[in-house]
Amino acid sequence: MTASDPRRVSEIASYHAHVYYDPATTREVARDLREKIGERFLVRLGAWHDMKVGPHDQAMYQVSFAKELFATFVPWLMLNHSGLSILVHPNTTSQRRDHVEDRLWIGAPLPLHEEVLPDDGEAEGALEPNTQPRLPA
Ligand code: ZN
Repeated sequence: MTASDPRRVSEIASYHAHVYYDPATTREVARDLREKIGERFLVRLGAWHDMKVGPHDQAMYQVSFAKELFATFVPWLMLNHSGLSILVHPNTTSQRRDHVEDRLWIGAPLPLHEEVLPDDGEAEGALEPNTQPRLPA
């Protein structure tokens, strides 16, 4: 591979969407969005983090989803984020690059503490879904 070869999408093992909220003002909005996601998409809804964790500068929960869902789930989030900031990133072998260089934002971008993210590692596949969707997206 030469320096000019583009990276292949097969590098991407899965995606995360990090849904940010303010525990004091927008937790209910985030809860409503989480419920709507669960009703429509086969994903893994992660734990609520009312305290900042990892590279994240605000409270958030993570949604882990399979590559095949990107084309419907991400546009749905664009239309339904209700003013919340959402970080969408691929999962490859570098968490730092995934979160910092190769991300996209829905809503307003937020600071990220990239120094805590490792530059190499295993590409994380989509986590076991914990939703039972019954509504169309
Ligand atoms: Zn993530």
